[in-house]
Amino acid sequence: MEHHYMKLAIDMAKNTKGQTSPNPSVGCVIVKNNQITGVGAHLKAGEAHAERQALEMAKEKASGATMFVTLEPCSHYGRTPPCADAVIEAGISKVFIASTDPNPQVAGKGIEKLEKAGIEVDTGLMKEEADEINREFFHFISTGKPFVTLKTACSIDGKIATSTGESKWITGEEARKDGYRLRHEHDAILCGVGTVIEDNPSLTARLEDGGNNPVRIVLDTRLRMPLDSNLITDKLAETWIITTSLAEKEKINELEKHGVYVLQLESSHISIDQLLSVLGDKQITSLLVEGGGKVNDSFLRTGQFQRVVKYMAPLIIGGEKSKSSFSGEGIPLLKDTPHLKLHSMEPIGSDTKFVFYKRED
Ligand code: NDP
Ligand code: ZN
Repeated sequence: MEHHYMKLAIDMAKNTKGQTSPNPSVGCVIVKNNQITGVGAHLKAGEAHAERQALEMAKEKASGATMFVTLEPCSHYGRTPPCADAVIEAGISKVFIASTDPNPQVAGKGIEKLEKAGIEVDTGLMKEEADEINREFFHFISTGKPFVTLKTACSIDGKIATSTGESKWITGEEARKDGYRLRHEHDAILCGVGTVIEDNPSLTARLEDGGNNPVRIVLDTRLRMPLDSNLITDKLAETWIITTSLAEKEKINELEKHGVYVLQLESSHISIDQLLSVLGDKQITSLLVEGGGKVNDSFLRTGQFQRVVKYMAPLIIGGEKSKSSFSGEGIPLLKDTPHLKLHSMEPIGSDTKFVFYKRED
């Protein structure tokens, strides 16, 4: 039964992905005498944490009950008072915790507080599943930089367009919809000015029943971005342009007048490392990179990514002139290529979705 209740908490947390940033996704279930007396999920930064929601529902039935929570209860004052205190006050007698807090400043402190108050604490139940939900958040908290996912949709020979430039659509509708879901789950989505000029994308999540549209970020050294681009005119989400010392002041002013946030770096080149630090400072915890080929190459060569999502269509395009998902210089020696580990592989319509994680060893 313990797995059963923790799974319920995990399922709730999983379904809030994309709506809690910069906070983690957390679910909580309170059980007394084999009956669920409270459930809760953290729904939005600034609102009640999962434990408080569940305690609020359980009221006096929390006394002597067991709590199942996907992440270690917080022990410090943030935007809301510490959950560990609320758990103690409510008289919970046992707490199952799946993931421990990765934040080095608070790790273990919530558990310590509960134990000091005489509450029995069990950690690690379904830890792998729970860690997976907050992989991006854990990375952000421990590095100060967003978790980076490189997403491509290509033929089985890795092409993203034909030699005549035709790219719509390589993958089918189901795969594209899955890609929209991926956008919804990220704080920001990034492409190069090359893609903006060629494709004029809108980079929104387009989920049928609404959803979160991430901030749209364009890398543009000299501000070549056309003022009539969808990213500027559609106002469907925020657009940020990252530029350099080579950008003209007048162009910056003009873009700002159109409601675009222009972030000018001091250097004449956009270093991916610096970019990620700047985005981290702006509370972007997860970044979905949707190329094109040159931008993908920059992330590849600097090794600044954690996950690769590839939607592969059952097509072969071939040809030297047709664009590849990774272009630019590439990596000259095999020994220097990043090592990836296949996490999952699933058919989506007639395409196949592959998820790889970068191995840090
Ligand atoms: P990109 O979108 O990769 O943009 C490249 C441009 O971005 C560069 O030329 C550069 O222009 C600017 N840039 C600024 N800083 C950097 C940096 N640090 N690293 C790399 N680029 C930087 O353009 P591509 O031409 O490579 O690819 C465009 C093609 O990709 C399109 O045909 C599009 O259809 C396809 N595409 C396909 C996708 C798919 O999944 N199937 C997804 C996305 C695109 P500047 O020097 O002026 O700043
Ligand atoms: Zn809390």
